[in-house]
Amino acid sequence: MSQIQVSAVSKAFHSTTAPPRQVLDGVSFSIAEGEVVGLLGPSGCGKSTLLNIIAGLDAEHSGSVSIQGRPMQEQLGAGFRVAYVFQESRLLPWYTVQQNLEFVLRAGDFPRAEWGERIANVLSAVGLSEFRDFYPRQLSGGMQQRASIARAFCIDPDILLMDEPFSALDELTARKLRESLLALWARFRTTIVFVSHNAFESAFLADRILVMGQGRITREIDMGGTPRPRSYDDTALFEASKNVIQILERHAHPSHANPSHS
Ligand code: ADP
Repeated sequence: MSQIQVSAVSKAFHSTTAPPRQVLDGVSFSIAEGEVVGLLGPSGCGKSTLLNIIAGLDAEHSGSVSIQGRPMQEQLGAGFRVAYVFQESRLLPWYTVQQNLEFVLRAGDFPRAEWGERIANVLSAVGLSEFRDFYPRQLSGGMQQRASIARAFCIDPDILLMDEPFSALDELTARKLRESLLALWARFRTTIVFVSHNAFESAFLADRILVMGQGRITREIDMGGTPRPRSYDDTALFEASKNVIQILERHAHPSHANPSHS
């Protein structure tokens, strides 16, 4: 059975001052357990809205989303664990790195005897062992985002949802964090759904890229043939991202791509 099944999801935003705005239009796909899937598309095409619907944070839509055959809210009640990483780290500023991780372990009712090992493992994987007693304001943006990734993995989530997790970082920092993320994925085999507008990032991280345009999935690109661990020098990744950029360009300028339809 798929881990995540999205079936015919449509969503419109309603307002009293403007006509309804159709943001998602019959989106369907499934994601297998342990798969890394990227939702890629230009700004405003509905990626974050779709991620929120998968997370169960937005129930006002048609169609359905099921997680191992049940609604997300039911799964969460049965102990299913979902973690999030956003563009900004969202660390609690009055807690140290360690205390931020303890906070989610306490909220998730993890036995206190496990906390030390869980925290040590994930902090070492993201290279923050020496910074466990630092407050977020004492860390660079990249280090804060490392802490946010460590916080996500310390609960050993069933699903990790990430919304543009690296887009606020400079490219060199983002590269290191993507590698840390994939190292953690290789250890935990968490199902990951991430949102990105960066074609190369999507190719580097994903098993499968779902290309979105104006509320629809327009193409699926299988990256499963690209070996892991991934290397930034792998020419297959450049080829794939070039291909994806061409698809995005055709969405943005359909008449340029096919003059006979202009
Ligand atoms: P993306 O993540 O691809 O940039 P979003 O899912 O954030 O796109 O937004 C898709 C569209 O829905 C955008 O045009 C955005 O302005 C609109 N939108 C998002 N949230 C709301 C909201 N709460 N009310 C009205 N429109 C919204």
